[in-house]
Amino acid sequence: MPAVVSQTRIVPLGGLGEVGMNCLAIESRDGIVIVDCGVTFPHDQYGIDLIHPDFSWLWERRDQVRGLIVTHGHEDHIGAIPYLLRMIPMPVYAPAYARVLIEHRLSEHPDIVNADLHTTAPRKKFSLGSSITVEPLRVTHSIPDATAFCIDVPGARVFHTGDFKLEEDPPDGEASDIQRFQELGREGIDVLLSDSTNVDVATRKTSERSVSSALTNIIAKLEGRVVVGLFASNIYRLQAIANAAIATQRRLCLLGRSVQTHVKAAQALGKLKFPSDLLVSPEVAMTLAPHTVLAIATGTQAEPASAIARLARNDHPFFRLERRDTVIFSSRTIPGSERAVFGLICDLERAGVNVHFSGIDSEIHVSGHAARDEQSRMIELTKPRSFIPLHGTFHHLKRHAELARSMGVENTLLLENGDTARWSNGQLAQDGGVPHGRVHIDEGQVVAPPTLEERKQMSESGTVFAQLHLDKIGMLSTPFAVTTRGVLLEEPAHVLEGLARSAVSEALRLARGPREVLTPEEARDAAARTLRRIYRVGHRRPLVVVQVKSVGGPIVG
Ligand SMILES: [Zn+2]
Ligand SMILES: [Zn+2]
Repeated sequence: MPAVVSQTRIVPLGGLGEVGMNCLAIESRDGIVIVDCGVTFPHDQYGIDLIHPDFSWLWERRDQVRGLIVTHGHEDHIGAIPYLLRMIPMPVYAPAYARVLIEHRLSEHPDIVNADLHTTAPRKKFSLGSSITVEPLRVTHSIPDATAFCIDVPGARVFHTGDFKLEEDPPDGEASDIQRFQELGREGIDVLLSDSTNVDVATRKTSERSVSSALTNIIAKLEGRVVVGLFASNIYRLQAIANAAIATQRRLCLLGRSVQTHVKAAQALGKLKFPSDLLVSPEVAMTLAPHTVLAIATGTQAEPASAIARLARNDHPFFRLERRDTVIFSSRTIPGSERAVFGLICDLERAGVNVHFSGIDSEIHVSGHAARDEQSRMIELTKPRSFIPLHGTFHHLKRHAELARSMGVENTLLLENGDTARWSNGQLAQDGGVPHGRVHIDEGQVVAPPTLEERKQMSESGTVFAQLHLDKIGMLSTPFAVTTRGVLLEEPAHVLEGLARSAVSEALRLARGPREVLTPEEARDAAARTLRRIYRVGHRRPLVVVQVKSVGGPIVG
């Protein structure tokens, strides 16, 4: 009897070759397991709220999908779950804190009812399909309840670190489960998938506990109001600031919806504790002496609608900053946001507000991701037969792959989204590509690529609009007007308009040729081509909209 060849395929759909939008599928003889399903946020806005991975590869295999397993509750790991479940209902397994956040996200999508959610716990194995077993393992990260996964599919054991760090003494006592990593390493791990984010940082210099005392020390010396900006999901940091408020005899004020959401979720799970009279509303905070107020705010990446950006513009409905007040950015700046963050810092400083940020004061923030020495340790502990770096731009993945090879893991592959790897006969090899991409979402709706292209074109080059009235044979019956918005004009508007009229008239005649009539659609297309040529300046190609009204006919646009 021929031996059954067991093959396992690793299929990254997001998060490899970029920071954010993490989503990876593991395909085996017994079906597909998806690990994480996150979003990313656009730098070039065009009104796009978020971007999620293209799920068409999963959709084609929807009968094979056994479930989604979630490492932790960051948006780049859970934000796309509503969009995936809308396409393919499936069970979702997530640790407690992530589950609360997923439920919160799903409540914003009332069309998704009866989601099949399960809570995972460290070292509590569960099964998917008939022979896939998943063991969640505790890892320390910048959000509570983060996990790695040991995933056993027929023919392969895959270890997925999720986002992790190996800080020894995290404030909640939930250190990474080094002992279990080591045991699994001894048993044998076929493929290690590991977090590459901080591969350029040689070693961890500080800890969440020392950040906590650094913040308290800084706040104790300040006189005015203090606002601390952070990622709201960092519950350890929220707790540290609440502790600082108590230690410095300030009342605590929460600015921004996501801070309130996370405080509520963390309190409900007993992960955040402070006396109930510590909190004051922003309205009340403004009536208190400035040196008795400490606020927590969102907006460390200078998102325009966030609390810190509104404070800098002085258009927060209740809270205000004055000279000698202080803003502390207890966060890192995500690559791509630097310019906006510096703009915000300057706006605050111009208004006389003191600013502390981790760029000049490294004590006030610590990363949730493993530095290079912790990444090496993970490889040492798990002793993988093969390795794929996760979570990072091409640069991060490349350096992490080099690190693994330098530690003797020769069978290392550098994959980006849509590249796949196949584990068979004890070897990991590059396999074919799969459909992948980015789906843009605005107000919960998919923005189709042509719509996005129109938004881009209008914002960069402007819009040209004309309505043509045609006679029975499809020629112009009256001269038409051209309306432009945001368009660069090489000549005075009326000159271009005159040019456009005669050029369009000529174009319609040419398009009709020897035929008796030109159809409204043909007239529209010929006119649009002509207007595009006339209103084009260098690289600027305005969006041209032409409507055609024929005698007795409908408007064709
Ligand atoms: Zn994370
Ligand atoms: Zn992440």
